Amino acid sequence: MIRLRSRNVRTRLTLWYTSILAGLLILYALGTTIFLFFNLRHELDRGLRRDFELVEERLRLTPENTIDPAGLKAHHEDAEVERWLEVWTISGELLYGSGNRTAGLPEKTTPVEQRKSGYTSDRLVDGTRVRVLTELHAIEGREVLVRLAHSEERLWHEMGEFIGVLLLGLPVALLLAAIGGYSLARRALQPIDRMAHQAEAITAERLKERLPIENPHDELGHLGQVFNSMLERIQSSFEQLKRFTADASHELRTPLTVLRSVGEVGLHNHKDAGHYREVISSMLEEVDRMTRLVESLLTLSRADAGHIQLKQEEIALFDLVQEALNLLTVLAEEKKQTISLDGDRRLRVVADRMVLRQALINLIDNAIKYSPAKGEIAVRVHSREEKWAVVEVEDSGPGIPPEHHERLFERFYRVDKARSREMGGAALGLYTVPWAAAVPSGRVELQPQASHGCIFQLILPQ
Ligand code: ADP
Repeated sequence: MIRLRSRNVRTRLTLWYTSILAGLLILYALGTTIFLFFNLRHELDRGLRRDFELVEERLRLTPENTIDPAGLKAHHEDAEVERWLEVWTISGELLYGSGNRTAGLPEKTTPVEQRKSGYTSDRLVDGTRVRVLTELHAIEGREVLVRLAHSEERLWHEMGEFIGVLLLGLPVALLLAAIGGYSLARRALQPIDRMAHQAEAITAERLKERLPIENPHDELGHLGQVFNSMLERIQSSFEQLKRFTADASHELRTPLTVLRSVGEVGLHNHKDAGHYREVISSMLEEVDRMTRLVESLLTLSRADAGHIQLKQEEIALFDLVQEALNLLTVLAEEKKQTISLDGDRRLRVVADRMVLRQALINLIDNAIKYSPAKGEIAVRVHSREEKWAVVEVEDSGPGIPPEHHERLFERFYRVDKARSREMGGAALGLYTVPWAAAVPSGRVELQPQASHGCIFQLILPQ
């Protein structure tokens, strides 16, 4: 098989298409040629049979026991086709031979040797192709062998013309098909060229651009749509990455600046050992803060990349909330806040214990952080529609204006930038909550509040 390894798809398609068409046309041409040949020969045989019957009627014997040519003369004269007639005795003697040509039937095929009757094709001595009908016939009780031949010239002439037309028409048809096929393939593939051209122009700086889609319902349109939605995803992760890098470096810069200025002030003022100890301990505080930040960033990026294996354990939800609260009561006590916990003790959920615990800590820690001194914090655990387990954390802080709700769970997002940084948060706490809740296909919601305070709800499947 020929290997079609052209450089472009257009040429390859055209070559394939033309070769298949050529194969089919050749098969069709062969079929029709064979059909035509047998049809013409059948016609010739029928004419030969009719003629043979006429000859049989006219065969007479003379008193000398030879064939009477008088009856056959008329037959030869009204001949439309060239024909030859021979009458032989059984013993192989030629009784009568006629024909409007001098060249007779070939010697080698004397009828005596060919006693079997029927149609045969043969050539005369001069090369003329003939169709011969040989049959035994009785004239007045005497058995003779009659051979009648008709020229096949017309048949071969018609066949020749037909094959000539085919040989001339086939290449022309194939050429036209190839030209048509090539231009069709080119038209069909043109959108791909345009798409490739456009795609080449899309760089990291021009990620907003999209491929042109002419018809969204065809295959190329579908390809374009798939490509565009891929670009969409790339663009959003690219922007997320850019934002993350900018935010992370910003977050790291603050403790570094503090470290630097604390160090500089400590160096300039020559004081006693007690002063230096104070400077060093406040520098260490900043280092601690930075370490926590870097650790959280690492955990989050590993989680984002799907490298953290989460466990699936059955957890008594109330007990877990209680555990998180116990850890944080000391902070609330410092601010003289009261924390209440009530709800259904029997609720159980399936989740990763450590991840869920951290999410609860983050929610309660925020409630403590943002509630004023002597404020109240209520934590409730209850079930909803018998399908969901809900942990509700309500605080008495300033609340969060609705315009911030949408972006609240993004990393590094702060409502009141100055105040929350001052409280020591890296703005990563809330970011982990929906992620932790989503693991057992749950979610986190912030209830809209008319007056003050926030109600965060962690909703998990039971
Ligand atoms: P942070 O460590 O700064 O508290 P979080 O990710 O926990 O970061 O919270 C993101 C931001 O959402 C906070 O900076 C704060 O502005 C706001 N926020 C979170 N919880 C509360 C709350 N209970 N009351 C008011 N504001 C809140």
